[in-house]
Amino acid sequence: MNAMIDSGATKDFIDQGFCSKYNIRTTQAKTTREVYLADGQPSAMGPITHTAKVPMDISSHRELATFQVAKLANLEVILGMPWLKQHSPRIDWGVGKIIFESEGCMTWCLKESLTVYAIPEDEAREENLTVEFGATQSKKDQRIQVRLLDPQAKLLTRGLAKAAGQDLYANEERTIPARGQEVVTTGISITPPQGTYGRIAPRSGMAVKHQISVNAGVIDSDYTSEIKVVLANMSKQDYQIQKGDRITQLIAEKIVESDC
Ligand SMILES: [Zn+2]
Repeated sequence: MNAMIDSGATKDFIDQGFCSKYNIRTTQAKTTREVYLADGQPSAMGPITHTAKVPMDISSHRELATFQVAKLANLEVILGMPWLKQHSPRIDWGVGKIIFESEGCMTWCLKESLTVYAIPEDEAREENLTVEFGATQSKKDQRIQVRLLDPQAKLLTRGLAKAAGQDLYANEERTIPARGQEVVTTGISITPPQGTYGRIAPRSGMAVKHQISVNAGVIDSDYTSEIKVVLANMSKQDYQIQKGDRITQLIAEKIVESDC
């Protein structure tokens, strides 16, 4: 389903037609409430007589959401202020990205990656009209599955929408000695998408600025233990890694089957 995030909405709404189409059970509300527009006129959305409790997954973010059932025309769900307050997501409007990083989400809602990419509004409306789930399904399979082994660990984030790699974070403090190397834990394990393997690559900023590079960096598709990164310090000074520092990037690369 497609949802619109609207900080101007005082409630969270789900479309009446959508509920009946998918047999979502609705409950009679104790009181009937009108919905008013900004100019004080009652909205065609209401009046609201029912609510619906719906388990909702947004990528890897799972919750049991309570909605007011309304006539939303060609929208399916409006996530208004109650939802925004509950989850406090960080929204990057520029690239259309939602990052669930509040303590509540980390504890209760998240299973894997905390970043969700929005689809363009036109595309969403088109999808609502044609209700085509095939495309969304195939996109999902391309994602790297991430498991948090330590609730304190940070999850992968993608720096730029088009960047190839996703950032990996240190889950402990470590000093990388000058001209030496050290193993740094990340607190997560991953499963690369089918037909790919995970490659750990240096972050260009760290390589250039601090002469920190990455040794040993392939994660086989069947390796399910914690990812540990070997960081090598090529400079003449010790380098201090703090917990939560971005230390390297993870790239999913296609496995090319070959006989030799
Ligand atoms: Zn949440």
